[in-house]
Amino acid sequence: MDCWHCRKTAVGTCRFCGRGVCENHAQTQPYILELFKKRETTQVLVVEDALYCGACTPRPDPLDLPELD
Ligand SMILES: [Zn+2]
Ligand SMILES: [Zn+2]
Repeated sequence: MDCWHCRKTAVGTCRFCGRGVCENHAQTQPYILELFKKRETTQVLVVEDALYCGACTPRPDPLDLPELD
């Protein structure tokens, strides 16, 4: 796979959208791995430095899925 930005060989894929990124264009962004309920509050398990392509726009907050409550 090639880098989305410069067509060099990618070293990884964006965790959010799956685009390839080379070492020059790889960025990091917190990624929510898991949501879980602990007593009355909802908590999230986050990867602080997940690989990010810089081209996509992950939402800062997860969307509500009220039917799962
Ligand atoms: Zn690149
Ligand atoms: Zn991306």
